[in-house]
Amino acid sequence: MNRAGSPPGRRHLLKGAVLAAASSVMLPEPRAGAQTQAPDRPSALWAPAAPANYTVSDRPSPRHPVDLVVIHVTQTSFDKALTIFRNPKKKVSAHYVVRSSDGRIAQCVREADVAWHAGNWEYNTRSIGIEHEGWVDRPAYFTDALYERSAELTATVCDRYGIPKDRAHVIGHHEVPGSDHTDPGRNWDWARYMRLVAQS
Ligand SMILES: [Zn+2]
Repeated sequence: MNRAGSPPGRRHLLKGAVLAAASSVMLPEPRAGAQTQAPDRPSALWAPAAPANYTVSDRPSPRHPVDLVVIHVTQTSFDKALTIFRNPKKKVSAHYVVRSSDGRIAQCVREADVAWHAGNWEYNTRSIGIEHEGWVDRPAYFTDALYERSAELTATVCDRYGIPKDRAHVIGHHEVPGSDHTDPGRNWDWARYMRLVAQS
């Protein structure tokens, strides 16, 4: 694993805390990639994507309202997905990745920025992209924890932007025009997922 992507050590956290306590008002804002707390979801692991893999923006804005959530399946492991998003050559990212085993959520791109996940620029600009660890043909990866934590995340996103919690606004990657991807695939339980989103 790439060292730059490791969680910050205790020493770094302590140093940050001391600096913040001493003179937070005098310090410039940290760069987005330098902060240790996920910007939109403080409980998430902040695993920032390489700046080459997304477009900085100021969403929601009149030019770029946010009115969709796009559901993906990684077709690789949680750790490898984060590694891919950190690789500036990959030109791909998502706002969030949800781990199969326990529903742990990593945030990789600020919601204000445009992640490159849908394969369609307009849909990228309108959406929050959520990746789920697993493979479309391996339903065992779609655990209770993954569904529950992801649904709670999607509900929070919908509430934040006023996005209706329905299938017209919470869509699969395969429903993006021009997409040749099949995820999340036929094993994804949409009825269950949308019920959880509505209840969260
Ligand atoms: Zn996808």
